[in-house]
Amino acid sequence: MLAHTSEVLVSKARTRKLTIVAQDPSVTDSQGNILTAEVDVPAEELAPGPWGYRVHVIDYDGSTRTLYKPLEYAADGDGVPKDRFKKPSQRTIRENPQFHAQNVYAIVMRTLARFEFALGRRVSWGFRGHQLNVAPHAFADANAFYSERDQALFFGYFPGRRATVFACLSHDVVAHETTHALVDGLRERFTDPSSPDQAAFHEGFADVVALLSVFSLRDVTKLLLDRDGGKQAGSRANRRLIDRKRLTSTALRRSLLFGLAEEMGEELSLVRGQALRRSVELLPSRAYIKSDEFDDPHRRGELLVAAMMNAYVEVLVSRLESLGRIEGNALDRSRVAEEAAESADYLLTMTIRALDYTPPVHLEFPDFLSALLTADHEIRPDDSKYQFRKHLLASFRGYGIDPCPEATRPDAFWPSPRGDEFRRERTHFESMTRDPDEVFRFIWENRRALGLSDGAYTRVLSVRPCLRIAPDDGFPLRETVAECMQQIKIEAGRLKSLGVEKPKEMPDEQEVCLDGGMTLIFDEYGRLKFAVAKRLLDASDPEVQARQSRRLADLWRFGYFRKGAALARRFSAMHRQRALGMTRAPAEEW
Ligand SMILES: [Zn+2]
Repeated sequence: MLAHTSEVLVSKARTRKLTIVAQDPSVTDSQGNILTAEVDVPAEELAPGPWGYRVHVIDYDGSTRTLYKPLEYAADGDGVPKDRFKKPSQRTIRENPQFHAQNVYAIVMRTLARFEFALGRRVSWGFRGHQLNVAPHAFADANAFYSERDQALFFGYFPGRRATVFACLSHDVVAHETTHALVDGLRERFTDPSSPDQAAFHEGFADVVALLSVFSLRDVTKLLLDRDGGKQAGSRANRRLIDRKRLTSTALRRSLLFGLAEEMGEELSLVRGQALRRSVELLPSRAYIKSDEFDDPHRRGELLVAAMMNAYVEVLVSRLESLGRIEGNALDRSRVAEEAAESADYLLTMTIRALDYTPPVHLEFPDFLSALLTADHEIRPDDSKYQFRKHLLASFRGYGIDPCPEATRPDAFWPSPRGDEFRRERTHFESMTRDPDEVFRFIWENRRALGLSDGAYTRVLSVRPCLRIAPDDGFPLRETVAECMQQIKIEAGRLKSLGVEKPKEMPDEQEVCLDGGMTLIFDEYGRLKFAVAKRLLDASDPEVQARQSRRLADLWRFGYFRKGAALARRFSAMHRQRALGMTRAPAEEW
């Protein structure tokens, strides 16, 4: 049926509010009630499920073979479905499967919306379909995972000390799994066997996104700051204020980071591991990254989390410096909570945006650092106000993660190629913003200048136009991001001819595959701004061959070439090992 004309003209709200559990049911307010939050999610007309344009909640429990009734919304006057669970009771939160369905739907959509906002474009899942299936009560087990094959997120449940524990009620678990599904779509080669850093990256990055999304909720930061204040303050007027000496980096690390780690459900750590707890305990030291213990992908991922969360606290201290004091040496507690949430939100945007500036293959932490700083500099050249970049650089250095040698510009930015190095007259920029063949033509014509290897299989993996909005002045920044990959298959016995070392015991007839790749970032006039490369081979740079040799040695050491070692994107197995605290990942879990 056609809508009446006047209805069509009514502008529809772009977002709607839905109630979620702010962190997990163990994080409660001063009355002992589970802390909830109302979050913005994209407005859309939902089929029963909820089943929307990007998410389909299917509440089927495989362990008990139960299909729960899908959640349905009644629309308000604007056609926007109304929140069915405003101010939910404790019982509803714990026991109502329909509330659980809303919780996962809202957190998955909020995470997707954060990625789309940060990257300035639509973002696909790591599989061909548009809609991600989400099962909030998938099985009776302490696990939760993303399965590319099923195009789905699965959340388990298990008996706790007092009540059943539901993974779907944990904000950080849901955001973490959603992040796997998104990063898998943005950088499909990051699950390939490569360096220990790349193996650690997916987990570490998903944890950083999950934690910053929790800290970006004002209800959470207010609670954690209040918790500390309530015990020491006393009078109501005092509770409104917070003493400056409790806003040092040491004190904030204790109230916010340790505070949340302490409160997070002990039982849920079976599902998510102890990433926050363990990483906040890692005080800055350059020794970890070289130690054997941090060779393990799970532990190594915690270093990334530690470096990011440490920078978060330092940024916050900087921001609080600029807040006016009231009544001597105190600050308004609500303003402090607001600043804490806003800092987390901005860092979250930076973190996601950095993905576009990473190389498409063989990611190492120093690459991520340069990506983080360069991407932010492009959209917000002036860092003097809160010094996000200064703090990030210092924090990563504190954990032994230095900018990579390619990042020669001051402040560890990626170098810009010289404009006159490239031929552009035979390519059409308009079609380069969306057509992989046109981008390939540019790459082919400029293969020498770009430093690509001759004789390798070369393919453009993606071409993505973006429109990002500058936070300071609201001006748009247009960019096109393209990924290109190169590959050579060769028998191990012939590696020497390429300057690459064969692992000692590897048989000569073993076939090995060498990869390289490059992320190209074009400005709005079609000029190449950055070429972020992990070269396949480079006769003039022995470090490139040395990296390929190191990678083969690592893969050989971890048993990747053993017969039957299936290489898979098994996030499920990865999580189980992490939860069980396994110290060494078997080869097939890379
Ligand atoms: Zn994970």
